[in-house]
Amino acid sequence: MGIWILNGLTVDVNNVQAKKHIFVENDKIAQVLDAAEGSAPRTEGHEVIDAAGKLVTPGFIDMHVHLREPGFEHKENIATGTRSAARGGFTTIACMPNTRPVIDTVDTVNYILDKAATEGVIRVLPYGTITKNELGRELTDFAALKEAGVIGYTDDGVGVQNAQMMKDAMALAVSIGMPIIAHCEDDTLVVGAPVSEGSFSKKHGLKGIPNESEAIHVGRDVLLAEATGVHYHVCHVSTEQSVRLIRHAKQFGIKVTAEVCPHHLVLSDEDIPGLDANWKMNPPLRTPRDVQAVIEGLEDGTIDIIVTDHAPHSEEEKAKGMMLAPFGILGFETAFSLLYTKFVLTGKWTLGFLVDRMTKKPADVFGLPYGTLNVGSAADITIVDLETKLEVLKEEIVSRSKNTPFIGWKLQGWPIVTIASGKVVWS
Ligand SMILES: [Zn+2]
Repeated sequence: MGIWILNGLTVDVNNVQAKKHIFVENDKIAQVLDAAEGSAPRTEGHEVIDAAGKLVTPGFIDMHVHLREPGFEHKENIATGTRSAARGGFTTIACMPNTRPVIDTVDTVNYILDKAATEGVIRVLPYGTITKNELGRELTDFAALKEAGVIGYTDDGVGVQNAQMMKDAMALAVSIGMPIIAHCEDDTLVVGAPVSEGSFSKKHGLKGIPNESEAIHVGRDVLLAEATGVHYHVCHVSTEQSVRLIRHAKQFGIKVTAEVCPHHLVLSDEDIPGLDANWKMNPPLRTPRDVQAVIEGLEDGTIDIIVTDHAPHSEEEKAKGMMLAPFGILGFETAFSLLYTKFVLTGKWTLGFLVDRMTKKPADVFGLPYGTLNVGSAADITIVDLETKLEVLKEEIVSRSKNTPFIGWKLQGWPIVTIASGKVVWS
């Protein structure tokens, strides 16, 4: 039995919209038909989903997420994390390796892939670490990790402090056709600061993380990428300086790509209401000028893709307050509706632009065969209700954790059905 999705609205990167009937059989898209007025395919014997008036897109792709398993299952695990992602319309996610143990051995890669296959509901692609235990001292076995199934290398959570180590990592990665993905942060500039340097840190007498701590690594690494020829991808860009450096590097033909998170596009440090650690993440919320810069960077192609940096933490951990709580907020379940409400409904972006940056573009950046509705491609499909406005309610969060600053926000544009590899995994 297959699934017919009837009369859904599709959109491409140029915002060309069309009404289609889509047929899913097994784990592939088997047919895509123009839904001319009154046309109806023969659907006997198949499940039928009426998508009239709804957006039908390739399943969203999130190249930066934390599933917390193994080691931190009180925050999230692969079962809960993939369900939370499915609620947000995601069908492919790439998980960061800063688990315990970290993903620096073939055994741990196998553990993640086995868990994802047996307990997950969507596709999980693991990253391996650049250095053993993310300590920045010794490279991992890149070739063995690649063979086991990682899609790139990153020490996300911390920056690689030593320039020679990063250069060696890039040289090794490019020699086997793999990318380096970098959390950019210079440890000598940030010690002990919970928020960014700006009006909020001053008002509350807190030490602030300066913009340079991110941008210094971006600047160093684009030069190392130029020297080695590696595909270098910058994680969660948050500052005006980083955008400027990436733009400059791209103009010189350096193979650099970059990502930005919804919260860095929507919130600045001036929005932080008080010392609530649900507003604490790394990189931190920056100044309004930085927010404007990352928006412009995404719009002009300097920043390629949108990722959530979904980073669950338990309520007990977040209750420790701004100074002591860990960095990170949830991302999956509000990503699309937040950006649709703030950028598409306000006329700043087209729907096609937003969808592209969450589907086809991330697939293209990482060379993945997903993010399209073409016949023969994986049956990863998200159906979105663009009309209904709903309040973000804590009780409805699927993630094991609840740490998001968006509770109580009224957002529009909610995924209502998520199909991953041909199976309805959220409805
Ligand atoms: Zn990071």
